[in-house]
Amino acid sequence: MEPPRWATRLMLRMARDYRVAPPSLMWRTRRSVLSSGFCHINARAIGVSEGSDSQDARLAVLHEMGHLILLKTVPEYRGEHDDRFYDFFWPLIRRYRFPMKVALEYESSHHKHTVERTYRRGGGSLKVEV
Ligand SMILES: [Zn+2]
Repeated sequence: MEPPRWATRLMLRMARDYRVAPPSLMWRTRRSVLSSGFCHINARAIGVSEGSDSQDARLAVLHEMGHLILLKTVPEYRGEHDDRFYDFFWPLIRRYRFPMKVALEYESSHHKHTVERTYRRGGGSLKVEV
């Protein structure tokens, strides 16, 4: 199905800001609150299965575009959720004005320890912001 206009706009803006070719954006809906996403290792497509929480769908676009931009710009990166990913991801969250509290909650549910370590290293205090 066609992605919502806001999602296409966000994806195109991020591609332009980081000077990478815009990927195909695949979109589906799913019967759950949270969204899920994927990024092809060839960095030509990302996809989001949108749950009922539209804020979380937006976070999924940011997350998958984070993978895509790293895949295109860091030769040895293979799509891991490692320190390098999150060191890049937190500034993305700020740059595109997504609520940090929501991003931390969602990302922590998947990758708790990496999230805590990289967020602290970036100068963020988990106690204050969560
Ligand atoms: Zn991921």
